[in-house]
Amino acid sequence: MKFNFPKWVIFHVPHDSTHIPYDIRNQFILSTESLQKEFVKMTDFWTLALYSNGIPVEQTVVSPISRLVVDVERFADDSLESMSGIGMGVIYQKTHDLKTLRRELSAAERSRLLREYYYPHHYTLTRKVKDALSRYGKALIIDLHSFSSEQLPYEGPLLKDRPEVCIGTDPYHTSSEISEAFYQSFNKTFDTGLNAPFSGALVPQAFYLSDPRVSSVMIETRRDLYEDEKDAELLENFAITSKALKSYLSAAVSSI
Ligand SMILES: [Zn+2]
Repeated sequence: MKFNFPKWVIFHVPHDSTHIPYDIRNQFILSTESLQKEFVKMTDFWTLALYSNGIPVEQTVVSPISRLVVDVERFADDSLESMSGIGMGVIYQKTHDLKTLRRELSAAERSRLLREYYYPHHYTLTRKVKDALSRYGKALIIDLHSFSSEQLPYEGPLLKDRPEVCIGTDPYHTSSEISEAFYQSFNKTFDTGLNAPFSGALVPQAFYLSDPRVSSVMIETRRDLYEDEKDAELLENFAITSKALKSYLSAAVSSI
């Protein structure tokens, strides 16, 4: 079954790539083998595939580079980004287990990374949201992620409970109607958390805390539902799980 979503829905997929451009590979101090292991821990490998069937490409914004290059989900300004305090701001210095990921970068190298990979991604997302606002008067960003069944060291000490699905909301950009619709829909079959263990939902800076017509909600899916977490290979039940997740997502969007 193919699911259709209203044109004012935009899917944001920031973490499913493992691409590290050749000319910046030297920033990373990990061997190729260690880098592969880091990808398995940090990449949302199948997030787009889980939900993408039926979503037109013009309604998706997918980062073409690995989050290890630049994490487009973070604030570009480290002073606004709480994760920068542990070396996991927009440009990661640390691995998932808080070991050193890359060498020290110069200011010029940092600004080049942002200029080439961060701002173009946000420009695309912002443009699609603006288009939706001008045509439909509203936009809903669905921010797609996955998470490991075992807590990773960088996530901090407080995240003990790992439900199958976690819905993240923003106090300004997620209405209680949207929050309830998503939570109730997924919770029919999947053990679902609301802002636990992960909270928040991405909104581009141009609209953040200033334009209530822009809504956002995050869906984090626990990886052991559909992949072998040792190597990120798909499990045989992937298609069934994906179909169920998509139907609950579709129902949630239809009800708002
Ligand atoms: Zn993610």
